[in-house]
Amino acid sequence: MKIAIIGGGAAGMTAAHLLDKTHDITLFEKQPILGGNIRTLNKNVACDSLDQNITLDNGVIEFQRDYFPNFHKLMHNLQVPLEHTPISSELFLANDRYYKSTGAIRYGCKTKWEKLSESLNLASIIFSYLNVYARMHFANQNSIRNRPVSDYLGNNISARWLKMLLMYAYSMPYKKIDDFPAEIAIPLLAHSGMNTKWERIVGGVYSYIEKILMQFSGSIHCNANIISVTRDSSGVEIQLINGDQYHFDKIIFATTPDQILTLLKDPTENEIKRFKDWKLNTINTIIHTDTSIYKHFGVTYFSEFDLFQNKNNEDSGYNAYLDRLCGLSTEDDINFSLAYNMEQHIAPDKIIDTQQHNSPMYNVEAIRYRQEILQTNGENHTYHAGAYLFEGLHEGAVTSGFVVSELLGGLRL
Ligand SMILES: Cc1cc2nc3c(=O)[nH]c(=O)nc-3n(C[C@H](O)[C@H](O)[C@H](O)COP(=O)(O)OP(=O)(O)OC[C@H]3O[C@@H](n4cnc5c(N)ncnc54)[C@H](O)[C@@H]3O)c2cc1C
Repeated sequence: MKIAIIGGGAAGMTAAHLLDKTHDITLFEKQPILGGNIRTLNKNVACDSLDQNITLDNGVIEFQRDYFPNFHKLMHNLQVPLEHTPISSELFLANDRYYKSTGAIRYGCKTKWEKLSESLNLASIIFSYLNVYARMHFANQNSIRNRPVSDYLGNNISARWLKMLLMYAYSMPYKKIDDFPAEIAIPLLAHSGMNTKWERIVGGVYSYIEKILMQFSGSIHCNANIISVTRDSSGVEIQLINGDQYHFDKIIFATTPDQILTLLKDPTENEIKRFKDWKLNTINTIIHTDTSIYKHFGVTYFSEFDLFQNKNNEDSGYNAYLDRLCGLSTEDDINFSLAYNMEQHIAPDKIIDTQQHNSPMYNVEAIRYRQEILQTNGENHTYHAGAYLFEGLHEGAVTSGFVVSELLGGLRL
């Protein structure tokens, strides 16, 4: 069959890889580069100001070892090397207090006394954590559907830490996290504790897209500006702004979900119902070498999940220390970080790269019809893939590629 895939992020590229052996695949990507939220400097993103031997990720970066089974199957199939990376978190508050997670205490405290003092500091919020943990733990899977995460987290200090972790995981504005769907948040938070193991892709995340491309025999159109997608009994017509027109047997949408109703010129009432509440979340991430914000707190250990509450107390940002996450030599004294919503703290001359990302704006209304989208995959010659159909992370993107591949008789891993 002739199959069009719209969107060259993780979901679209996984589907392309798995379907390529059995079908004639054409992939359309709106951007000049492939990868979606995968932005590896010196791979799919050129960066003249960075040593050409270094790869830094300014987007997707880390993967859970025990909770990403399909991602691991894909990496195994592509023979992409993964490496364990120690991860910890610190919470920096507007009132100048800070807390180190057990990982940051373990890896970052140099003396016994420092360890003891930071452990006592962390213990001071343990009851608030147990309170939130109990609420999450006893929430049953059916009752968390169609409910916002704020119903379960409350507003104590541990809840704030967890909400900031959700902001980090989904690069969503902190102010929107109260409306974040509990059915996605709670399972993620439940297995993102101190014993969670994390991995990175050696050589940068885009390395696996490169491996897919090496084997891919279909065609790829970057900078593709699609103006309409229409369907009839014979298949799917795609029209580009430059006048090019294509006919396919099937189409797979692997874009962010807000795009579906923009592209489809003949949506059914059910398609309108399923996609109308999805909006786009556009954010910037910055790679920089400015560590001055830590000096204010007297902290010299930088963590991978460092979360900063803004002075106005309402907004927040993150700074992810990249040297360990990107496997750089520890002797090198340049400290690279990836930051979101921290612009006011970063000196412009310390910025190496800025990336704009588009991702789904998750809320209870938007995800209401996710199951229905999955159950009706294939209706009107139309399939849907994307991280948003599962837990919103890389495992979800890869899983959605597996699902459409299976429905269309592609490779099974
Ligand atoms: C900054 C950031 C960091 C993240 N870090 C992690 C992480 O470390 N680990 C993790 O597990 N997850 C992370 N995520 C979540 C991440 O979004 C998913 O892991 C995954 O990469 C999403 O893949 P996707 O294919 O579903 O969507 P996307 O990556 O958004 O891909 C969609 C693609 O469709 C293209 N497209 C959109 N509209 C059109 C159109 N009209 N025509 C043609 N093409 C179109 C887009 O340009 C894009 O390439 C991160 C997300 C962000 C924003």
